Amino acid sequence: MVEEYVGVRFAVVFESKEPPKDEKIEELIKWCRLYDELSLAPSYGQGSGGNLSFRTGAGFVITGTKTFLGTVRQEDLVLVEKIDWECDRPTIHVHGLKEPSSESMLHDALYKINPEVNCIMHGHDRIVMEHVEQLGVPVTKEERPYGSVALMEEVLSLMPTNYLVMKNHGIISMGKTIDEAGQLSLKYHEKALILDK
Ligand SMILES: [Zn+2]
Repeated sequence: MVEEYVGVRFAVVFESKEPPKDEKIEELIKWCRLYDELSLAPSYGQGSGGNLSFRTGAGFVITGTKTFLGTVRQEDLVLVEKIDWECDRPTIHVHGLKEPSSESMLHDALYKINPEVNCIMHGHDRIVMEHVEQLGVPVTKEERPYGSVALMEEVLSLMPTNYLVMKNHGIISMGKTIDEAGQLSLKYHEKALILDK
């Protein structure tokens, strides 16, 4: 798996430089730390290979690009208010200090297509990917560059499912709540660890 950082594939408009405030932020941060502890989102040098988000009334709150999940703080989170798909390049309107995760378009599309989903977690769970066939989870057909529209389309083609693997890349886990999305990713991680013995 090669996932070199090449920068975000969209334009970002900062509506304000205010980091998001929401009562669920603490819970998201708890899961960010757990992803780091369990190596579900290993470092690629400039940040952790993974991104977590939850839906709010105003859009969704997501980890910023180049963020280390183990030491994430409120200032590393970004509120994505809306994405304008009509421009030459998708334009993301945000509130916060950082640029949003490079997978923000994917999160946005998944929230749109899954109205019952309120939390999305993406990690690079190596153990799950090594045992993906035995686990029987849906996998995208082709490897696509991260942050691309092609990757987004591959993932959307697997719907409906709350858990999937992006070929040679990582996992996506979704739930009605932050806890549900997190627990689902742990369930597959633990199953994979048993297969690994
Ligand atoms: Zn990734």
